[in-house]
Amino acid sequence: MVNQVNSGDLEINSSLLTVINDLHSQYKSLSEGAVANYIPELAKVNPDLFSICIVSVDGQDYKVGDWEQFFTIQSISKVFAYGLALEDHGRNYILTRVGVEPTGDAFNAIILDEQSKRPYNPMVNAGAIATTSLIKGSAPTERLNRMLEMFRRYIGRDVFVDISVFTSERSTGHRNRAMAHLMLNFGMIDQNIEQALDLYFQQCAVLVNCRDLAVMAATLANRGINPITKERAIDKRYIKDILSVMYTCGMYNFAGEWAYKIGIPAKSGICGGIIAVVPNKMGIGVFSPPLDARGNSVRGVKVCEELSQRLSLHLFDCSSENGKLGTEE
Ligand code: GLN
Repeated sequence: MVNQVNSGDLEINSSLLTVINDLHSQYKSLSEGAVANYIPELAKVNPDLFSICIVSVDGQDYKVGDWEQFFTIQSISKVFAYGLALEDHGRNYILTRVGVEPTGDAFNAIILDEQSKRPYNPMVNAGAIATTSLIKGSAPTERLNRMLEMFRRYIGRDVFVDISVFTSERSTGHRNRAMAHLMLNFGMIDQNIEQALDLYFQQCAVLVNCRDLAVMAATLANRGINPITKERAIDKRYIKDILSVMYTCGMYNFAGEWAYKIGIPAKSGICGGIIAVVPNKMGIGVFSPPLDARGNSVRGVKVCEELSQRLSLHLFDCSSENGKLGTEE
């Protein structure tokens, strides 16, 4: 079983590597989709970059392709910022400010819940901006440092903001600015909205590689402890909140189909990254910049779909022994 993957189990280790190598060769020629260009700096990315990484909860890593290539984390950061806000304020307060309902709308829809005026969930832009505005700290620098320190715990090394992507988004992110104004109007954001937006744009511009994504996902799979450094990144009581919203909202208006077909909590970003979490087993990271119409990586979705089938990862699959390799029918 995959949850028994450990360094002594060479057969399974080589099987996982074979599976990701196969998927990489199978999908590297897939040329559908287009890279995000509404943030000018992001349009410069090479669309052929492609990597798949898996990190098991016992700290083994499996990687193929351009896994050392750095890119900005974008919306995948929302998962981790939500965790920090939960730690700062607790579940009940956060629920009064950001809902947990899937929208069925695009990630950048300018909508709030009619009745409560809350943004629908922390995985879409409006909800993520509200979440980020709740990060504690006496001044912008302290809030940014707390955010970077949080990413450091998940990744296991110091992280940096890509200043060109940050400034590119700050100078063109009028849609996100409109959402922030709407929330300010309804009293859902207290903070200076330019400061909240800056921190949101900075968190989106944190540089990661595909292996980092898999380590971050594996940390969530491992009840909040980074399986490589063994450092706790988040209080374990919030893991279920994070994974629940990832499961229902992480893939935007594809979240329902993703839950149905792939069946594991996940989050995508317009960088072309996807993280997927198999609780108590492994974290998956995929990076391939061309996106489908909903803003999810085309190859990333295909790879996760096949991984889920080949490794029987769907959380509700009881037709085969969950997590066993080679049980595809
Ligand atoms: N920084 C991006 C934005 O706010 C993140 C969106 C995404 O990755 N889907 O538009």
